[in-house]
Amino acid sequence: MHTPVFLDHLPDITSVSSRKSELYRLTRNRALLDLMLDDHTSWHRRDCPACGQPRIKSKSFSQALLPFQRCTGCNTIYAPRLPSQQTLDTLRLDTVIDHDEEQNRDFEFTSLLNWISLTEVRSERSLETVLDYRFSAQAPAWPLTAQRLTRHRKLTFLPLQVQSEAESYCDLQQALQAQDPRAVLVLAEMDRVADPALLLRSIQENVARGTLVFIATSCADGLEYEILGADSPSFIPLDRLTVFSVSGFEALAQKLGFNVLEVSTPGRLDAVILDQYFKATESSDIPFWSSFFREADNNRLRDLQILLQRSLKSSVMRFVLET
Ligand SMILES: [Zn+2]
Repeated sequence: MHTPVFLDHLPDITSVSSRKSELYRLTRNRALLDLMLDDHTSWHRRDCPACGQPRIKSKSFSQALLPFQRCTGCNTIYAPRLPSQQTLDTLRLDTVIDHDEEQNRDFEFTSLLNWISLTEVRSERSLETVLDYRFSAQAPAWPLTAQRLTRHRKLTFLPLQVQSEAESYCDLQQALQAQDPRAVLVLAEMDRVADPALLLRSIQENVARGTLVFIATSCADGLEYEILGADSPSFIPLDRLTVFSVSGFEALAQKLGFNVLEVSTPGRLDAVILDQYFKATESSDIPFWSSFFREADNNRLRDLQILLQRSLKSSVMRFVLET
């Protein structure tokens, strides 16, 4: 298994703390609150979606809005009680993603495309056809930017569609069978779906052997979640129904029959988010970290972020799986 390190530049702090991001967070939390107050919402219960450990053995991660658990077996963070996929998708279609925010995402999009190209070289294969599953729902500018920056690859984009419970992932299964892509992209999706294993199985059962699956998702082992917990600005419950740990997601992928070719945590934001938190919060007094961040300059933040990436402790992770 290969574990690359990404030496990206640190982002400008203003790009992670804008008023528009705060409006998105409030809108999503209001939608969750409405769901919880609605008597017609049906909820189902689950154990750890990564390793299967019973939820009674987990510890409480957050009780705010929706309860969340942290698995003591694999460190994955998850909501033990969920609405249906159909309900979740309907709410997502109602959420308007602000297009102005998209201007800051060229760097992220380029990084994702580079990831595909590097993997293509490392794995010595040709990924000429790639199917993107739903990332355009989180990043409306992604399809146009990706097509503009990609010359030799045929990318197709499957949008977010609401389907009945009985037809879960029918759109994905049909697209995979019709297009037979060399690679499938599942970016920022694994943490939002009601049943991550079902999504992975739907891919596994409908592609040719040797197809690559690129997964980008949030990471429960990240320093941001370790220190800030549910106070982390990235923790929007409806968008983080499952925050896998590295070992938890690896175990799930292997249990479903995937080869894990590559794992990395190329997150760029832990250091700047924690820096902002400690410089703005007077009462926080965490041994070592409080003084570390209060005295930190940009060089120190960059060094810390590189260390986190190297040690698989940043809050975003990427997997390359092979069917
Ligand atoms: Zn677990």
